[in-house]
Amino acid sequence: MTQHCSSTMTRRLMPMLACALCAFVGPLLGGCTVNEATGESRLAIGYLSRGQQIALGEEAMPQLTQEYGGSVPSPQINAYVSEVGFNMVPFTEGENPSLPWEFTLLDSPVINAFALPGGKVFMSRGLAEKMTSEAQLAGVLGHEIGHVTAEHVPERIQTSMGTSLLASVASAAAGLGDSAALQQLTDVVVGYGGQGYLLSFGRGQELEADMLGMRYMTRAGYDPVGQRQVMEILAEASSGGRKPEFLSTHPHPESRIEQIDGLLSTEYAGITGTNKVGQFEARFRDRFLTPIASVPAPQASVEGERRGVTAFAWCGICNPAK
Ligand SMILES: [Zn+2]
Repeated sequence: MTQHCSSTMTRRLMPMLACALCAFVGPLLGGCTVNEATGESRLAIGYLSRGQQIALGEEAMPQLTQEYGGSVPSPQINAYVSEVGFNMVPFTEGENPSLPWEFTLLDSPVINAFALPGGKVFMSRGLAEKMTSEAQLAGVLGHEIGHVTAEHVPERIQTSMGTSLLASVASAAAGLGDSAALQQLTDVVVGYGGQGYLLSFGRGQELEADMLGMRYMTRAGYDPVGQRQVMEILAEASSGGRKPEFLSTHPHPESRIEQIDGLLSTEYAGITGTNKVGQFEARFRDRFLTPIASVPAPQASVEGERRGVTAFAWCGICNPAK
């Protein structure tokens, strides 16, 4: 979609930068694209198209699945996890419901979840086995769906190749005269610089994915408190010493908890306990916890998992230190 920059997106740095850039030089560089889930504008140049995102996800999925030990060897359990994911897909925005979504339960003991562009979502068995309700499962899958619909991978790709591009565009634009957009752009580029800007980037994306995940799960009838409970599960898993891998791909737990609590007490206040949403503990027990207890435990392949973590752009997004 190509259109002029909307003035509605100013909440965080990336939208502000993209907005300024789009308004000022967008027409010279092939226009802007507007994300349907977040409403944020970005320059189309250097941004993966929907077709490219789908192709990237399709291409990377088999290797990523293999490096995490394959999917859990139980068609019924995989079907259940997939069903929970697909309960939320119709509630995603714009053309997102027609993405080739796939939800894979990886036969890995690590605690992690991630997603590839174009609708490929993964959760480890190690994380799912710590849950006690379908709403918690929906919380994590919804968060990963949010990373896909907000197009965080394309955003990151464009940003990481874009620092030099932005600098050259800014200097070229300076020759075209003064404008509020140029000033805003320059402030962002000069004032925050590459490192500071990039460091805040992963945090903003995580918060955005949490917000979207809570939106999708609630629309699908899941109690959004499940999202909060997942954070508690992760905190508990961290208390034993070794940090769950999830926290390296999804940093900033404190600010995430703060935002989740904020949303629970405002946008979703009073919804828990109503007939609009449920936690579905019994169904989760019957269709996940009980059957998976009889599936042999996965063989840990630490090296393979490490490769899986570092080989894909996705994890670089969540971990700003990379
Ligand atoms: Zn995340």
